[in-house]
Amino acid sequence: MNSFEKINSPIQHVDTLNGVEVYIKRDDLIHPEVSGNKWRKLKYHYEAFRESNKKVMLTFGGAFSNHIAATAALGKMYGFETKALIRGEEITTNPTLDFCRSCGMEIEAISRKQYDERDNPEFLGMLGEALPEVYLVPEGGKGVLGMRGCLDIMDEVKDQFDMVCVAGGTGTTMAGMMSSGYETNFQLFPALKGGDFLRPAIQKHIVDFGQELSTQGLGKISTRATLTLQNDYHFGGYGKVQPELIHFMNSLYEKYQIPLDPIYTGKMMFGILDKIEKGEIKAGTKILAIHTGGLQGIKGMNERLQKRGLQINY
Ligand SMILES: *Cc1c(COP(=O)(O)O)cnc(C)c1O
Repeated sequence: MNSFEKINSPIQHVDTLNGVEVYIKRDDLIHPEVSGNKWRKLKYHYEAFRESNKKVMLTFGGAFSNHIAATAALGKMYGFETKALIRGEEITTNPTLDFCRSCGMEIEAISRKQYDERDNPEFLGMLGEALPEVYLVPEGGKGVLGMRGCLDIMDEVKDQFDMVCVAGGTGTTMAGMMSSGYETNFQLFPALKGGDFLRPAIQKHIVDFGQELSTQGLGKISTRATLTLQNDYHFGGYGKVQPELIHFMNSLYEKYQIPLDPIYTGKMMFGILDKIEKGEIKAGTKILAIHTGGLQGIKGMNERLQKRGLQINY
């Protein structure tokens, strides 16, 4: 392996606000196309894929999925075949899928009912038998190998932070980060409504991970690490945005030149700065936010925002 894969992403001081120091770890800068936590989650899958000598990397995702885009870009970069099963048979095209096709990925839209089988071991077993040349990556890169890649995020953090914040979808990234043994107050910002289910989900991820990887000495959690969920910043639910969020993202970019994505990191950063502004975080606290990438989705979001007279300006 070579090039970008071993680069530690930079930690940037954003600002000191109400006495609170805000830093951001720029995983969006790892690579323009294979970036953020989707690269972290793919990294060990890519190694396993190479070792398996299979020919095609197959995975699952929604039509705007950052994971699908990262998988397609990885395939193009290293010259292997990729295929994606996309949720919803009516799906034909959008900027994300156009990008994936331009990378040579084969896209197959399937019904929601079929898609619901994506984690069913029986279905996956059948798929594996029918397609022996295929290496399967679970949706979003979740699972033990995905977590292992996310553990690496915290291994790159040498300084002590009082809070470490990340946006959540499945909670895999957070579970991986917590499994590093780093001691802090971890703060999860769910990108979806009703994110409370993520706490038990993260606990389960951590247990599964620990069981599978304990022989390698991985998956240890500090007993002094805590997890807090911030459920008030989903802006209506997964994939939903409000004018206030878009204006916030544009002004943050103007002020600090940090581009955020509208589905995950924009909502997290809004939440962090909102809590600081309201005085809910005491002066002297050192916060690290993880920029998990997702910038490829801006083009598709802007197409949808046009009708509402809104636009992300970068
Ligand atoms: C997928 C994604 C997440 C959510 O990661 P989980 O591990 O599913 O919680 C967060 N941020 C971005 C930018 C993503 O693409």
